[in-house]
Amino acid sequence: VMASMAHLQKEKLRLQEELLELQEKLAAQENNELSLSLQLQGQVETLKAKLLEQAQEISRLRSELGGTDAEKHRDLLAAENERLRQEMKACEAELRELQRQQQAPCRDCPHLQENARLQEQLSQLQREAEETRAKLVELDLEVQQKTNRLAEVELRLKDSLAERAEEEERLSRRLRDSQETIASLKSQPQQIKYIIKTVEVESAKAKQALCETQSRNQYLQEQVGMQKQVLKEMEQQLQRSQKTEAQLRAQITMYEAELERAHGQMLEEMQAMEEEKNHAIEEAFSRAQVEMKAVHENLAGVRTNLLTLQPALRTLTHDYNNLKRQVRDFPLLLQETLRSARAEISQAIEEVHNTNRELLRKYRRELQLRKKWHNELVRLKNIRVFGRVRPITKEDGDGPEAANAVTFDADDDAVLYLLHKGKQVSFELDKVFPPQASQEEVFQEVQALVTSCIDGYNVCIFAYGQTGAGKTYTMEGTAANPGINQRALQLLFSEVRSKAADWDYTITVSAAEIYNEALRDLLGKEPQEKLEIKLCPDGSGQLYVPGLTEFRVQSVEDINKVFEFGHIKRVTECTNLNEHSSRSHALLIVTVRGLDRSTGLRTTGKLNLVDLAGSERVGRSGAEGSRLREAQHINKSLSALGDVIYALRSRQGHVPFRNSKLTYLLQDSLSGDSKTLMMVQVSPAEKNTSETLCSLKFAERVRSVELGPVSRKAELGSWPSQEHLEGDSSGSAAPPGRGHASPSPGHLSSRSASIRRKLQTSG
Ligand code: ADP
Ligand code: MG
Repeated sequence: VMASMAHLQKEKLRLQEELLELQEKLAAQENNELSLSLQLQGQVETLKAKLLEQAQEISRLRSELGGTDAEKHRDLLAAENERLRQEMKACEAELRELQRQQQAPCRDCPHLQENARLQEQLSQLQREAEETRAKLVELDLEVQQKTNRLAEVELRLKDSLAERAEEEERLSRRLRDSQETIASLKSQPQQIKYIIKTVEVESAKAKQALCETQSRNQYLQEQVGMQKQVLKEMEQQLQRSQKTEAQLRAQITMYEAELERAHGQMLEEMQAMEEEKNHAIEEAFSRAQVEMKAVHENLAGVRTNLLTLQPALRTLTHDYNNLKRQVRDFPLLLQETLRSARAEISQAIEEVHNTNRELLRKYRRELQLRKKWHNELVRLKNIRVFGRVRPITKEDGDGPEAANAVTFDADDDAVLYLLHKGKQVSFELDKVFPPQASQEEVFQEVQALVTSCIDGYNVCIFAYGQTGAGKTYTMEGTAANPGINQRALQLLFSEVRSKAADWDYTITVSAAEIYNEALRDLLGKEPQEKLEIKLCPDGSGQLYVPGLTEFRVQSVEDINKVFEFGHIKRVTECTNLNEHSSRSHALLIVTVRGLDRSTGLRTTGKLNLVDLAGSERVGRSGAEGSRLREAQHINKSLSALGDVIYALRSRQGHVPFRNSKLTYLLQDSLSGDSKTLMMVQVSPAEKNTSETLCSLKFAERVRSVELGPVSRKAELGSWPSQEHLEGDSSGSAAPPGRGHASPSPGHLSSRSASIRRKLQTSG
């Protein structure tokens, strides 16, 4: 409610502001109009003043026109008239004098002729005067015609002229009288003579007066002409003035009309604005009223609300007071809580810190362990043990003997189970290939090893197992389905080709056989010749076999030729190849030498593919002579191989490479960072279970070296020779290396030494 009240209040304020704004606008407009009207009034005033000026000018011109020239002219004429009248008077006076003189008798005056002549002259003068008068009348008429305003003057002039005429008339009458008198006087010659004489004298005077009159007349005429000219100019000026006046009048009317219009417009605008203002005010007022009404309504609502809210307010006040109390107490409480929280936090931090320190310590230890184990794993990974179970073949025959004794774990491809004498024994290797595993699949697992030899690693792949378990099948395979040997070489070729841009590689192949601890070259000209293994004279500690043939191969075809050659050699050398091959170790040694053209770096990797002799035990009682010798050699070399692998995996200081030709020959391919794969071949047939058991035990023992040092030593304790394996076959069926008690280290080392001695003496 408060909020709505505030809102309404705000709205009201806003409206008031709006109203004020409108009023201000209105005032501004009014001011504007006022200034406009003032401006216009000023203009009107100036126009009026101009008008007045013009009127004055006109009146001035008018007065000039009337008062100056015409009146002057009239005055002049009047003066002239007066003057003439005076002259006339003077003339009359003279005439009277003459008449008086003539009355004196001088009838036959000798001057009578002269008198007549004079009279003639006089009459002529009179005539001339007459003419002049006429001319004057004409001029008067002209003047009368030119201006009405001069009418009065002219009238006066006329009057004066008339008077003059009258005077002249009178004068002429008098002249006539005088003439009559003269005529009468002529009768009295003496008197006349005198009179004539006087007249003569007088006439000269009259002549002069006439002349003067004439000149004056002429002057008057000139004056009249001048006056006419002036009149004309004045008329023109008058016309011009009238024109200007008309123009000014038109302008004035125009201005007035404009003024009128502007005034009307202004009035209209003012009215419109007034209306607008009124309208706005009304609107604002009505809106304000509506809003006020709404506010009132709201207020009423608020009031009712307030009434209802009062109890709530009371409770709120109560609550508020409570809260206030709490707030008052809060800082204390907060401080208390903060103190305890801080203490707790610092304690927790301390704990966490300690834990962290502990964890860090453990982590570091773990890291170290991990590193150690990682190194171990890398090393162990270099020696791996696979198992491959061949399928049941026709040679296994049928019946219970050919029954399958080997099963697999569906979830773990590293485990297989052997049913031996009614008991199932489980074995765990690095990987187990079931019978259906193809050559391709097997090679897939091996190819990484093969390619590492391009990078300069030495690699050994052994096929171990009893005769007929599939060693040769895995290593050599068939023509249609080649084994590791051919596939490895093919892979090496393709790899070398892909690196040909930067590297030059040469691949050489040797093939050898170890039979009865004698090494023979399968590719040499003298297969019967026994080869020796010797130390390199360069002091590198490396071994080499002088006289061992090395074929450089450049294609798959070359390899096939080499294999064929070796095979033929082997076949021609023995009467029974199968029998012979099962009694000897066959080695294919591939050497890959690389040169990095850009850096000059050289690498050498050796791939040793070994098809071992059959691991089956020869009956202790049955074997004699050469068979026994063969068996002993095989036993020795296979035991030595196991021994070496064990020594390598358990990182013993001494690795007994020299205990057999095989391990001695492969010394540099087994030690260091070399990689070894033991492929343990087994037969699944029921009749072979005892040999299968032995092979798997060998495999697991080789592999079980991975268990820590103690276990390794424990394993060492049970590390068997081939003969031991034989003895085991009738013994416990428990998986080897599992659950065996660990003897004490001291005991172990003495035992291991005795076993090694035993192994050595057994050879
Ligand atoms: P070993 O070399 O160990 O004496 P062989 O490789 O000669 O054994 O194999 C004996 C017989 O078994 C041969 O006829 C061989 O073709 C066959 N054989 C071995 N392994 C397989 C296999 N994985 N698949 C099919 N036949 C096999
Ligand atoms: Mg074979």
